[in-house]
Amino acid sequence: MSLRPYRFIQRRESRRIQVGSVAVGAGAPISVQSMTNTLTSDAKATIEQIRRMEEAGVDIVRVSCPDEESTAALADIVKAANVPIVADIHFHYKRAIEAAKAGAACLRINPGNIGGQDKVREVVKAARDHGCSIRIGVNAGSLEKHLLEKFGEPTPAALVESALEHAQYLEDEDFHDIKISVKASDVFLAVAAYRGLAKACDYPLHLGITEAGGLRAGTVKSAIGIGALLWEGIGDTLRVSLSADPVEEVKVGFDILKTLDLRHRGVRIVSCPTCARQGFDVIKTVEVLENRLAHIAEPVSLSVIGCVVNGPGEARETDIGVTGGGAEAHKVYIGGKPDHNIDEEHLVDHLVELVEAKAAQLRAEKKGAA
Ligand code: SF4
Repeated sequence: MSLRPYRFIQRRESRRIQVGSVAVGAGAPISVQSMTNTLTSDAKATIEQIRRMEEAGVDIVRVSCPDEESTAALADIVKAANVPIVADIHFHYKRAIEAAKAGAACLRINPGNIGGQDKVREVVKAARDHGCSIRIGVNAGSLEKHLLEKFGEPTPAALVESALEHAQYLEDEDFHDIKISVKASDVFLAVAAYRGLAKACDYPLHLGITEAGGLRAGTVKSAIGIGALLWEGIGDTLRVSLSADPVEEVKVGFDILKTLDLRHRGVRIVSCPTCARQGFDVIKTVEVLENRLAHIAEPVSLSVIGCVVNGPGEARETDIGVTGGGAEAHKVYIGGKPDHNIDEEHLVDHLVELVEAKAAQLRAEKKGAA
């Protein structure tokens, strides 16, 4: 438990499944997923996009498999990718079988939509033969007709019932390597549905607020919806859905986890909003630092604060800190303690060097401990 009990999140107990090499559920680190938006049949473009996501730290990547050309390209994509690949299938159970054979680590398919238990059996056999887990993905926008009739509209209970019905098809085949999502673009609906599902089963849950919107609004919406659930201990893997570059989805996913102290990847920058007291241009400095430090995977914390009002306090809580001072003498803090001064001209380069050195130290320590 954290030394500060108010920061502690008690995670829901769930069963553990594997998505290839990535464990999901039962206390495993919450994984960050994204989805390609290239044509899957264009393996080269898809692999290039996956590479960019990998650089941002993605744990699992999903690709759409709407046709045979896509599942044909999948084998090359799986081979080239350094992370497990989830094949996204709608309706066509044969695509699921092809995807399993091509090496997908997980199939995203709703078993109730593929035409009966015989077809489910074939998909489950392929999943078993090739070591795939299955994600059931319920979406408020495509709820089954009989549930819409029963509930009148997509309600939290309707989403949960849909998920459990789909799961039943797999359970009838004695298949339990399942994770489930109950997404909606309405945060209230999505959060209530996930809460209901969390109580109704022990499957690991894949969180997401679907069709959340563009980069800014979608980030806020996802942070509220996914954040609320994670805060309650619900959620084992997540995907932030943005109408933006998928790499942004990965970054936002990690930022949500970082904020809740659930997982740390990359540099966490604490910076002030600036005012007339600032001793250097904080906004520009942070903007440049975010870009120049984007390659760092180690969890380094850095405070960039314009003046002494809040600078020393924030610096105490971060690995490296800088506080604006008068006469171009900005104070640099190391390990929470004032260490030396620096002028504005050399500030960014100097902070980059310090963060890189700290990251290298953490890497070496990790290697030593392994
Ligand atoms: Fe202004 Fe200083 Fe607060 Fe930054 S830390 S907003 S410069 S008072």
